[in-house]
Amino acid sequence: MTKTILHPTLGEITLSRTRRAVRIALSVRPNGSVRLSFPSWVTQGRALRFLEEKHDWVAENRRKMAEKYPSAATPLSQPSKELRDEAKVVIPQMVARLADLHGFKFGAVRIKNTRSRWGSCTAKNDINLSISLMHLPSHLAEYIVLHELCHTVHKNHSARFHALLDRVTGGRDKSLSRELRSYRPGI
Ligand SMILES: [Zn+2]
Repeated sequence: MTKTILHPTLGEITLSRTRRAVRIALSVRPNGSVRLSFPSWVTQGRALRFLEEKHDWVAENRRKMAEKYPSAATPLSQPSKELRDEAKVVIPQMVARLADLHGFKFGAVRIKNTRSRWGSCTAKNDINLSISLMHLPSHLAEYIVLHELCHTVHKNHSARFHALLDRVTGGRDKSLSRELRSYRPGI
């Protein structure tokens, strides 16, 4: 069994459940793709918990791969001009509206043609967001925007970061994260 999930902070993860695997294993390839393989006797839930435990390791290794192999990142098929034009209006508006509502300060907003991750926040509080947000239901796109806005306050995924994200999502951090994780984009 092989399938792809979209993790809220790690982006696209390939899950591979095989009889041959002897243990749960994670790998990050030069193009940034992440593979989580696990034996058939391990449940998907257990494997995903393992992924959460290794979250920072994955993020760090992906960053290293991007530095070492800058040209390896696989570009998406080019989105249509209409979608790009629409994204350039819709996404920055969403960021500005949510920042205003919750009192976040941010720098520039950039739209990236990437599927490996939904978004990121730089040290200068510039926010990068994937054009793939355009394919999400608005409450999930907003959840990703709020996640990045919370990084303007906390540059990590600490308990304080999640407490803030939970507050700005009206106590729905965990449930939205679950929903996003199981969301299958129709693209
Ligand atoms: Zn994050």
